[in-house]
Amino acid sequence: MYIVIGAGIIGASIAYELARAGTAVTVIDAGRIGGGTSSASFAWVNSHNKAPRAYHELNVAGMRAHAELRNRFEQSPWWHGGGTIEWEGSTDPGRYRQKVALLQSSGYAAQWLDAAQVRELEPDIDTGAIGDAPVAFFPDDGWVDPVVYSQALLAAARQHGARILPHLGVTAIRRQGTQVTGVTTADGGTLDADVVINCTGRWADQAAFPPALQIPMAPSAGLMLFTPPVASSVQRVIFSPQVHIRPDGAGRLLICRNDLDLALTADTIPDPRWPQVAALLQAAAIVLPVLRGVPAEALRIGVRAIPADQFPAIGALPDTSGYYAAVTHSGVTLAPFIGAAVADEILNGVSRPELTDFRPGRFFH
Ligand SMILES: Cc1cc2nc3c(=O)[nH]c(=O)nc-3n(C[C@H](O)[C@H](O)[C@H](O)COP(=O)(O)OP(=O)(O)OC[C@H]3O[C@@H](n4cnc5c(N)ncnc54)[C@H](O)[C@@H]3O)c2cc1C
Repeated sequence: MYIVIGAGIIGASIAYELARAGTAVTVIDAGRIGGGTSSASFAWVNSHNKAPRAYHELNVAGMRAHAELRNRFEQSPWWHGGGTIEWEGSTDPGRYRQKVALLQSSGYAAQWLDAAQVRELEPDIDTGAIGDAPVAFFPDDGWVDPVVYSQALLAAARQHGARILPHLGVTAIRRQGTQVTGVTTADGGTLDADVVINCTGRWADQAAFPPALQIPMAPSAGLMLFTPPVASSVQRVIFSPQVHIRPDGAGRLLICRNDLDLALTADTIPDPRWPQVAALLQAAAIVLPVLRGVPAEALRIGVRAIPADQFPAIGALPDTSGYYAAVTHSGVTLAPFIGAAVADEILNGVSRPELTDFRPGRFFH
């Protein structure tokens, strides 16, 4: 029996693969399916700025795994292809050209666009706002509805016999010596397991886990702004230096910026009067004039599940058996690959080379 703690995009992916392999799996989540970071994410599937090499390759493996997963399902309503249109505002366009050339040389699908091609792909973009910056198109990128994805994979896992227990917190990890034997839940119950898999994302260092089983975390918060439905034809991720934009269904657009300078915490209640909100809307309206005068319909804070050194923590923990952690940023891109690789490691006792650089043991020396 395997217990997966956390029904976000990572836990759902691992549970799906374990159940598909014919094993008994129980997924436990303190809240609703996908209600953690997976419900507040830009959710862009890509591998653009993912240094070093091993991390780039891991994200590329994630992109490949997304395509394989889609082929396995009759319908994949979570997936939104269409690629990315990107430009950088650097004063040194040569640097951006070099970055794209490097991606191309590694086999990453990328091509240059002139202004007419940009307008053909995204007629709403004011190409005047791009100026002389070189523009690249990455056709294999996409974005995902992480909650739709998690729901679909857990529904498939359930068909293979998995039990899904939402709204039930894990309050303790049970151990006998160095062997993890199961969990205690908020209703006072206990569940036995051969392996407990910690997929709690940004909560991976919570006190319910003994210190030796916590992953040191450095979460950061990001502000996401959602427009009301807008009569716009935007179909893909637009990644400009001032603002990142993608559709979010029913005509809404999601607008954010990675390096937005806001002292946010998970508990911050976003305020539409913040100057940064006006700045985001203004920057978005320069790229997409159709957004002129459009207010924010909703603001959401997302908290990134980032292990202390920024890189994924995936694997068993030193001096402990029956326990496995799978905690990472970029989890939307990585999820289907992590699901398959973790199930392979747990069920077949193999060590996947793609994960070698990302073992949680590095935090415990
Ligand atoms: C602003 C922002 C932008 C992002 N942009 C991108 C992007 O463009 N591309 C990309 O690939 N990634 C992106 N990410 C990262 C990505 O969203 C996350 O890596 C991913 O959603 C993490 O999923 P998860 O399943 O690990 O965590 P979560 O979705 O947080 O799931 C963890 C679950 O564990 C449960 N849990 C916690 N403690 C317990 C307990 N004791 N008992 C039971 N259940 C428990 C929680 O309720 C939660 O549902 C972004 C994140 C943010 C915040």
